Amino acid sequence: MSKETSIGERIGAETKRFLAKKNQLLFINGKFVPAKSGKTFDTINPATEEILGSVAEAGAEDVDEAVKAARKAFEAPTWSGINPHERARYLLKLADAIAANADTIAEIETLDTGVPLSINKANVIGNINVLQYYAGWCSKIYGKTNPSADDVFNYTRREPLGVCGQITPWNAPFNMVIWKIAPALACGNTVVLKPAENTPLSAIKIAELIQEVGFPEGVVNIIPGMGSVAGSAMTTHPDINKIAFTGSTNVGKGILSGSVDTLKKITLELGGKSPNIIFSDADLDKAITTAVNGFTLLSGQACIAGTRVFVQDNIYDEVVKRISQKVSELIVGDPFNSTTQLGPLISEKQFKQVSSYFDIGKKDGAKITVGGKRFGDKGYYVEPTVFTNVDNQMRIAKEEIFGPVGSIISFKDENDVIAQANNTPYGLAAGVWTKDISRGHRIAHAIKSGMVWINSYFDYDPISPFGGYKQSGMGREFGEESIDAYTQIKSIFLRY
Ligand code: NAD
Ligand code: MN
Repeated sequence: MSKETSIGERIGAETKRFLAKKNQLLFINGKFVPAKSGKTFDTINPATEEILGSVAEAGAEDVDEAVKAARKAFEAPTWSGINPHERARYLLKLADAIAANADTIAEIETLDTGVPLSINKANVIGNINVLQYYAGWCSKIYGKTNPSADDVFNYTRREPLGVCGQITPWNAPFNMVIWKIAPALACGNTVVLKPAENTPLSAIKIAELIQEVGFPEGVVNIIPGMGSVAGSAMTTHPDINKIAFTGSTNVGKGILSGSVDTLKKITLELGGKSPNIIFSDADLDKAITTAVNGFTLLSGQACIAGTRVFVQDNIYDEVVKRISQKVSELIVGDPFNSTTQLGPLISEKQFKQVSSYFDIGKKDGAKITVGGKRFGDKGYYVEPTVFTNVDNQMRIAKEEIFGPVGSIISFKDENDVIAQANNTPYGLAAGVWTKDISRGHRIAHAIKSGMVWINSYFDYDPISPFGGYKQSGMGREFGEESIDAYTQIKSIFLRY
């Protein structure tokens, strides 16, 4: 059986049509076009290491073209002149188109990322509400009238920023595109978005749907390309007003410094080393199942992964045993099998990086209870792995590994765990497991992170701000805060 047939048996007709376009293009000004340089790059399926297709690679000239289109669209009455209800309808139409194409998007995403199909299906369906939530905001972006003297009238307007550059990562590519474009468009901006070079395909599929539902040309431009070329050109471009970035902390810092000359508005969602804290009075069945999910979901390739599991000393041995058991039962394998829970890592680079930590952890004195090796002999798979006897100062407890690797660390009491949990340059998320409600809130208040879950993990919802303290980021996505991040305020005085 040829490789072609083996993929072909698992995917729908629409996904086949999409993949048959062997050369994917840039989406600029409402049209699909090749890169001006003619350059392309390959995107691969990390489960099989096979090439899925080639993709036009945007250079600085293409960024320029996309920015021109976005600027023109921003000024045009077809976008700036429409009322908020019409803007909302575009978002709702895109939401409906995504719902109608959910299976195709999930299949494309699974081929490009290796994330299990069941997870991608749930993700696509589960994130349609992001577009719907922001459609609701279109007509609720208020200014104020301010108290002023009798002969003066003062009011404020919240106006869009203009052209927003958005740079997204490979770990949940569909979600990241939706999370980025929805608030930007709701606020009346236009967008130039560069998806990660490892996973450009779902973004290109979204571009097809944007074209299909009839957004005015240039309102959304999607330009796959390299970070160091297209991403960097976006960061310094004089006519981009804002950059929204999700990815590694180092690249985020580079974007911040690269944007200084043009003083762009910047929001950054960066890395993490999030604590998940289990007290001895917790509902251990739930805590253990959720903690395992916390560091293995998406094969650990999640910025909010709960990679430092803190366990109270009087239950440490029991919890280590039960977590190790659960991890050994996880089903790793073909992302198209309905029972698969963990797929491969995204790339050879990530495979090498994650694998290097198996030795680093052992050399530093930690012990592996389960995992610690490559899984199989094809694809970038590693076994889900548990380290015990971990000290919070070891590299495996300090550095973002971005693989299915959990470090279990013991603690004595509340003060001890608060100090250990906060002893990190990151501050993205945290979990705490206890039946003592007061303690749950005390810990939630004491942890220096942008999000805390009491007796859960991974909950997110567009109603509530998402983002990090310290070196985990700047600004917030979601919630009312994201409206501030995509608008600027104008004060207007009128004298009678
Ligand atoms: P990355 O930060 O390089 O990639 C994220 C995005 O940034 C991609 O679209 C990339 O093209 C772009 N980019 C890269 N260099 C750029 C530059 N100089 N200017 C502008 N844009 C640029 O991430 P990576 O190298 O693929 O992964 C490395 C590590 O980053 C991972 O091991 C993980 O620790 C972390 N990471 C975190 C997240 C997250 O959700 N916070 C996502 C992906 C990776
Ligand atoms: Mn890929």
